[in-house]
Amino acid sequence: MNLSEKNCLVTGGSRGIGKSIALTLAQFGANVAITYARSEEAANEVVKEIESKGVKGLAYQADAVVFEKAEEVISDIVKQWGTLDVLVNNAGITKDNLILRMTEEAWDDVITTNLKSIFNYSKAATKPMMRARGGSIINISSVVGISGNAGQSNYAASKAGIIGFTKSFAKELASRNIRANVVAPGYILTEMTENLNEKVLEGIKQETPLGRPGNPEEVSNTVAFLASNLSSYITGEVIRVDGGMAM
Ligand code: NDP
Repeated sequence: MNLSEKNCLVTGGSRGIGKSIALTLAQFGANVAITYARSEEAANEVVKEIESKGVKGLAYQADAVVFEKAEEVISDIVKQWGTLDVLVNNAGITKDNLILRMTEEAWDDVITTNLKSIFNYSKAATKPMMRARGGSIINISSVVGISGNAGQSNYAASKAGIIGFTKSFAKELASRNIRANVVAPGYILTEMTENLNEKVLEGIKQETPLGRPGNPEEVSNTVAFLASNLSSYITGEVIRVDGGMAM
């Protein structure tokens, strides 16, 4: 796969799946910018790793919920690198609880961080991508957005919302050669999932036909394919990377 000459942005690229996506895109020859919320040191390390692959890297402290920040980040990338060809909306959080116990704040935080952020960055990317006569946007949802999950109504709503948004965006922008697709991971080993207890983990393994958790690289390889010209006739698609969990 060749991603050279592609300029990419990955939101939430300091850790976990986002970090893996950033490094995989760089491995295939892309210049990669990342955003993060708090982990400045980790983000700077990721930039060093990107640059060690012989491509350009940038890091921005940018809370994904802030609309103006998305515009600032993307216009700076375009100023420095000329175009933005690939946007990966990856930043996300969980604040799990049963509906009876879920606070309004936990609902709002998760919906805003996971869903509004996608609107912020996709909207900001649209003009430069139109000017460049093409682009690829990849939004990270979850199998929970397809199947639902007890204790994750806020998260499931945000991740299902991402699928509806992406399909609408794909229909609106297809005539401009801008593609938009969703990757829906299952249970992937990152900091987000490291605190799940043994019983929950065993249940997840049993629900997964491949019988094991996934690793971040298995998600990032799929993202790289959707970023590349190899997927040039794919738009509005949802690809599960879940070991068959939501089949
Ligand atoms: P992590 O918690 O490991 O990493 C989250 C990343 O998002 C960090 O880089 C974090 O930055 C960033 N982030 C969080 N909030 C914001 C914000 N407000 N603004 C900007 N950046 C932010 O999560 P994962 O790597 O596990 O998850 C990545 C994506 O994949 C998420 O969208 C998640 O919902 C999705 N996903 C994960 C699954 C899993 O099993 N792990 C399964 C299905 C989907 P910082 O370091 O600064 O906090």
